[in-house]
Amino acid sequence: MPAECSVPGCDKYEEARAKGVIFHRFPEKDVELCKRWLAAIGRDVNTPQKNYVYLRVCSQHFTPDDYERDLKAELMGCRPKLVVKKTAIPSLLIRKKKAAVTRECT
Ligand SMILES: [Zn+2]
Repeated sequence: MPAECSVPGCDKYEEARAKGVIFHRFPEKDVELCKRWLAAIGRDVNTPQKNYVYLRVCSQHFTPDDYERDLKAELMGCRPKLVVKKTAIPSLLIRKKKAAVTRECT
């Protein structure tokens, strides 16, 4: 079965592939970071660690700043390898549940 983005409401696999999206695995070795990813994408932070291996976040949720620069590829003018920085947290295109929206105080 093809991997699908674990962000609730995100594209199905075929749609994502059609857009040229790539899928990133969870940083399984860093449990704390995985929990932050889960919280960021609106999923249960108590997801068992053994399930992390099945989770994917597609490239639509990361900003260009979330990726390591691939200097070699830049120099050679080829397509850079997309490697998510160790500190990056998915932040884009995430539909928060209404209850989770915090009101800004003015
Ligand atoms: Zn996605």
